[in-house]
Amino acid sequence: MMSEEKEFSAGYRWLKCDLHTHTPASCDTPEMKGVSESEWLCAYMKQQIDLVAITDHNTGRWIDPLKQAYSTLKHDKIPSFRPLILIPGVEITTADGIHILALFDPSVTTSFVENFLTNIGSPADARGDSSCTAAVGALALISRIITSGGVAIPAHIDRRRGKGLLHLESELLFPIVESSSIRVVESLTDGHGWPTGRRSWGVIAGSDSHTLSSEDPYSRFPGCIYTMLYTKPGSLKNLVQACAHPDRTRRVIPDHYLE
Ligand SMILES: [Zn+2]
Ligand SMILES: [Zn+2]
Repeated sequence: MMSEEKEFSAGYRWLKCDLHTHTPASCDTPEMKGVSESEWLCAYMKQQIDLVAITDHNTGRWIDPLKQAYSTLKHDKIPSFRPLILIPGVEITTADGIHILALFDPSVTTSFVENFLTNIGSPADARGDSSCTAAVGALALISRIITSGGVAIPAHIDRRRGKGLLHLESELLFPIVESSSIRVVESLTDGHGWPTGRRSWGVIAGSDSHTLSSEDPYSRFPGCIYTMLYTKPGSLKNLVQACAHPDRTRRVIPDHYLE
């Protein structure tokens, strides 16, 4: 029998991806208090998610424990187990006040992300807090993420409540729009009213989950919003290529989440 890894690496296929999530390591997830790493993983498996990015606010604290818990679940062959690709990441608050997702290679660890945060001047005593602000603005941060081997995905760029790229003042926004450093953004909208100078950004959407419970249909729970990507699993490069390709990307956003 083929292992899950071999099955996954056999070629390109559609993957159900949640590229924006939170764990109890984020300070604004009180409903997840006491949730274990395996409960968190099982919630995504239950929603048939194939790939999940771990993107807590300004911390990578749960990356290593989730990898460890995944190995244990797989080893123990629990009935509800299904393969789940974990993408280490972090949602960073920039000096100019917006949120940018940084996704890294699957081999990246908690200490790599924490060191990266230290290098961009994110205060060590406020990790996990969405108001923990890096010392660098969006443009500089995006290039630092790329230099570190990651991909920068500006989060919820046009959400009404702000913290998105398109809420930046024009003198800060324009150089970013004009640069080729952004290939993918996160949005729930159809791009109407976005800057005309923008390059052809790929658009993805994630759950931005802050709870595991799906009882309230308006809450953000695992896989409530997701992106189907036609990709060959295994590398971040393949993932980004799929995100940036409209024919290989399909956002699934239930109507009641549309603003
Ligand atoms: Zn955010
Ligand atoms: Zn978020």
